[in-house]
Amino acid sequence: MASPYLRVDLRGGSAYGAPQLDVPVRLNTNENPFPPPAEVMESVAEAVGAAHLNRYPDREASEMRAALAGYAGHVPEGTWAANGSNEVLQQICQAFGGPGACAMTFEPSYAMHPLIARVTGMRTVSVPRRSEDFSVDLPAALAAIQSREPAIVFVTSPNNPTGNATSAEVVAELCAAATGVVVVDEAYREFGSSTSQGLLEERANLIITRTMSKAFALAGVRVGYCLTSEELVEDLHLVRLPYHLSALTQAAAVAALSHAEACLAQVAVLIGERDRVIGALGAMGVEVLPSEANFFCFAILRPPAETWRALLDKGVLVRDVSGWGDLGRFLRACVGTPEENDAFLVAMKEVLDA
Ligand code: PMP
Repeated sequence: MASPYLRVDLRGGSAYGAPQLDVPVRLNTNENPFPPPAEVMESVAEAVGAAHLNRYPDREASEMRAALAGYAGHVPEGTWAANGSNEVLQQICQAFGGPGACAMTFEPSYAMHPLIARVTGMRTVSVPRRSEDFSVDLPAALAAIQSREPAIVFVTSPNNPTGNATSAEVVAELCAAATGVVVVDEAYREFGSSTSQGLLEERANLIITRTMSKAFALAGVRVGYCLTSEELVEDLHLVRLPYHLSALTQAAAVAALSHAEACLAQVAVLIGERDRVIGALGAMGVEVLPSEANFFCFAILRPPAETWRALLDKGVLVRDVSGWGDLGRFLRACVGTPEENDAFLVAMKEVLDA
């Protein structure tokens, strides 16, 4: 029960988050299953040990933003960072949305976009993705942009939970039609081949958000960032708290970014594992959606809640996404270590044979 002091529009809501259950095989939160490579852990420990904790950190996080920009191939002045891409998304809503403004999403998609929008006082409008392949329905999107004039349009690419990407051509059309900003959430960019980064120079209203939680296996550090113009980064300064990125976070991020190659080698292993698991499921007759991310949606001829429970009984935790948009028959699993993936495949075989 909420207290009587809670904001009226937040009453009746529930806090977002997947179950954090202690089971042998956890494939429900799209994490990187590998710890960061040893060389990253060593550099991070050294950098954190040398941090000056009695002083406030660099408020501009200049070194960290330059390292992120260098990694992403973008200018430091157009690169902004915060505690996880969720905080970047929140700052975007605070700076470019605000009370009463409209945020548009293409559902099913990442549930935090409408949630953050609402918590920052925005109204939300969702446009359904095409039910046959979960792509953005461009004519419907353009019509909705024209009639609703959203301050922010969110596109997740690759999309969570469906795994498909939205092409830069489609994003360019959304940017051209929108009078507000277009946020392309590329949290899983390293696991796929498409990005809208090439549009940044020509599209002044484009913001691409990324994270170190997935490819860099640093979900526990909380580092997210965005690539946009210098002008929009100046705007984001107006809503950030002073010293929002701790000295520990900045030190860890800079250290890890100096080992980007070793981190990306793990991504290559995960891409190989994703394709192996999807292939093996397909061979068992399981319906699987194609994916450019480190997770995929799958369905069998049984109610998803039942399959979810049966897998959990076998020690495998996946995500029940059947209540999201048109995903009625689907569950979502992320790619684990080779051993975890083998355990998942064995459990799926048992569920199918039962
Ligand atoms: N965007 C998408 C599409 C995600 O799936 C996630 C994490 N589940 C995030 C953003 C947030 O990631 P973080 O805050 O860890 O950077």
